[in-house]
Amino acid sequence: MEADYVIVGAGSAGCVLAERLSAGGASVILLEAGPRDRSVLIHVPAGVAKLSGHPVYDWGFEASPEPLTGGRVIKLPRGKVLGGTSSINGMNFVRGVAADFDAWAQAGCRGWSYDDVLPHFKAIEQTESGDDHTRGRSGPIAVEPYRTVLPITHRFVAAAQQAGFTLMPDINGDATEGVGYSQMSRRGRFRQSTASTFLAAARRRPNLQIETGAVATRLTFQGLRCSGVDFRQDGVDQHAVARREMIVSAGAICSPQLLQISGIGAAAQLRDLGVDVVLDRPSVGHNLSDHYTAPLSARVLDALTVNQMRRWPRLGLEMLRWVVTGRGALTFGATTASVYCRSRPDVASPDLQLLFFPGSFDPANMPELEREPGLRVSATLARPRSRGTVLATSSDPFAAPQIKLGYLSDPDDLRVLVEGLKIARRILAAPAIAPLIRRETAPGAQAQSDEAIAQHVRNAGTTVHHLAGTCRMGEDLEAVVDSRLRVRGIGGLRVIDASIMPTVTTGNINAPIIMIADKGAAMILEDAATLKH
Ligand SMILES: Cc1cc2nc3c(=O)[nH]c(=O)nc-3n(C[C@H](O)[C@H](O)[C@H](O)COP(=O)(O)OP(=O)(O)OC[C@H]3O[C@@H](n4cnc5c(N)ncnc54)[C@H](O)[C@@H]3O)c2cc1C
Repeated sequence: MEADYVIVGAGSAGCVLAERLSAGGASVILLEAGPRDRSVLIHVPAGVAKLSGHPVYDWGFEASPEPLTGGRVIKLPRGKVLGGTSSINGMNFVRGVAADFDAWAQAGCRGWSYDDVLPHFKAIEQTESGDDHTRGRSGPIAVEPYRTVLPITHRFVAAAQQAGFTLMPDINGDATEGVGYSQMSRRGRFRQSTASTFLAAARRRPNLQIETGAVATRLTFQGLRCSGVDFRQDGVDQHAVARREMIVSAGAICSPQLLQISGIGAAAQLRDLGVDVVLDRPSVGHNLSDHYTAPLSARVLDALTVNQMRRWPRLGLEMLRWVVTGRGALTFGATTASVYCRSRPDVASPDLQLLFFPGSFDPANMPELEREPGLRVSATLARPRSRGTVLATSSDPFAAPQIKLGYLSDPDDLRVLVEGLKIARRILAAPAIAPLIRRETAPGAQAQSDEAIAQHVRNAGTTVHHLAGTCRMGEDLEAVVDSRLRVRGIGGLRVIDASIMPTVTTGNINAPIIMIADKGAAMILEDAATLKH
């Protein structure tokens, strides 16, 4: 097999790259470890509840237990299917704030300021929300507000305003602080993954070859130039030659692992694994960032919540409603409103995202919903300081790497989350919603002191699934990729996915990753055109 570009991973980033690169006529091979995205669970938004832990569509990674988070095993779902994690995620569409990208540019990433990335955000989306100067009107991914908004969500948004937060009319617009209603990557009743959007448009092009069930096992090199990739499909070992470039888009866990087992990583560690060293780059797999989150849950009175809507017999009505009108609880994603706020007045931009969900989960039986009506506000770090690692523990490409999340290793993250839970309580005490609150179940009324709240953060906090940063972009000597996403020190190889983020963006990260891929594709095409002339 041979093509101009070979891409490993058909996830949020990989599908975008396959579409953009094949559109210009280049030949592209897209290798995806998982199967096609045929399940109804993927396409009906509410199916998200059944996809984490799914035996086929989730890689099923787990992090190593760490003392600062109570020695618990935290599960890390990752999509293993066309569309990757965009096929199993909560569909909350969030672009991040200008300060995120301006900080990347400040840190040396040339061409990544907010002004530089804005055209790419506009190019990927199609939305009726917001102003023409910030929002895209004709991109592949439909971004829509909720079609059914429960009264309890309106009450939460009103309560946040009573607690002092300004209403953001477009949560992805210029305002970066306040409360707003969620927008989803959804068209009507269906999820918009990068497979159902970008790839659907490109699928039939003769110059795009999509291989599912194809696990990349090792990148191959001629000296310091990447020449292609070995992969295994249906038990058969094969090879794909990349005439121009190899692109690794396997996500924040699998991309650094593939680099390491192919010989790019810390030389001493690679030698211990029996891997031939191609390039000594110790930073591969380091700088792992995620938005750790701590829940506040409450039982509510006299209110319709998702808990009732996704339980028989009401579920039958919701299914009918979805079929007939394309509305109702089956079109919901993970979050219906968010508050962006600061833990202290003197921080430069919001360091907290409070995610509101009009439902509550059974802590003993996650992710099952509680029987009684309830709500959840998840206090979530927007700009975490703690960092973790992803390190291969074997040269076997089918062995999971060791993932250390490092949550709360920077004590300021704990302080921010304690403040976040206090702000959530303040909102729930505001007149618009307070009469509905029957009882706070977590952290619970007994947890009043900062230390008691901190204890809850340590023992009940978890991932909000935004792993990033493990092949960091930069122009310094430790960076894994440069500002054009080329692996530093190796020819013909780029990494383009969540792992290149130098710092994780504010809020959910699927939209920024799609933007990164759109921009990455433009850079690849520009570089190819420059070479030609
Ligand atoms: C449960 C959950 C809910 C989420 N909710 C939201 C949300 O509401 N909003 C939001 O913005 N973000 C959300 N996210 C995060 C977001 O979806 C991910 O950060 C994003 O999809 C990652 O994109 P990526 O391209 O970096 O990796 P991925 O989309 O994970 O793509 C990597 C692809 O590479 C494939 N692959 C890996 N290794 C190999 C190999 N060796 N050979 C071949 N193929 C390989 C994988 O199977 C996968 O398809 C959520 C994540 C999860 C897990």
